[in-house]
Amino acid sequence: MTKKDQDSIQEKILAYMESNGLRITNQRRAIVEAAFSTTDHYTAEELLDSARKIDPSVSRATVYRTLPVLVQTGLLRELDLGRDQQVYDPNYATHPNHNHLICVDCQKIIEFEDYCLDVRESVLAKNLGFRPGVVKLRIEGSCEELAKTGSCSKRLVH
Ligand SMILES: [Zn+2]
Ligand SMILES: [Zn+2]
Repeated sequence: MTKKDQDSIQEKILAYMESNGLRITNQRRAIVEAAFSTTDHYTAEELLDSARKIDPSVSRATVYRTLPVLVQTGLLRELDLGRDQQVYDPNYATHPNHNHLICVDCQKIIEFEDYCLDVRESVLAKNLGFRPGVVKLRIEGSCEELAKTGSCSKRLVH
């Protein structure tokens, strides 16, 4: 994500908040900045940490109240990874058609885009008389380390 993309996404979100009657506080500004100055996927707690690096006064409650607003804008997406904690993805704003590979051991997420796949999906859907909407492709499997060594050093404790 370029700095210019980041700025325009952040502006759009702040404008959305204002038009929905939410006051643009420093806390909210810090949360929006933290949410869209990374290409990593994050949990609410991780977002809290990075927002506090920008403004130490950011409260956990504000993060939990602001996240659904960010999701409503369509610029942040919730990813269903089948984990206890919800994971958020800021990359749909700049890469609306990306998909995910997820390691079953360390839960590492790798993003990919494939134009041919997009075309195949829409041809397939149309052939079945279906107008495609949201496509979510999630491939679970072994990351390179898991495939090579049989376990990941960054394995999540279950
Ligand atoms: Zn993603
Ligand atoms: Zn792994």
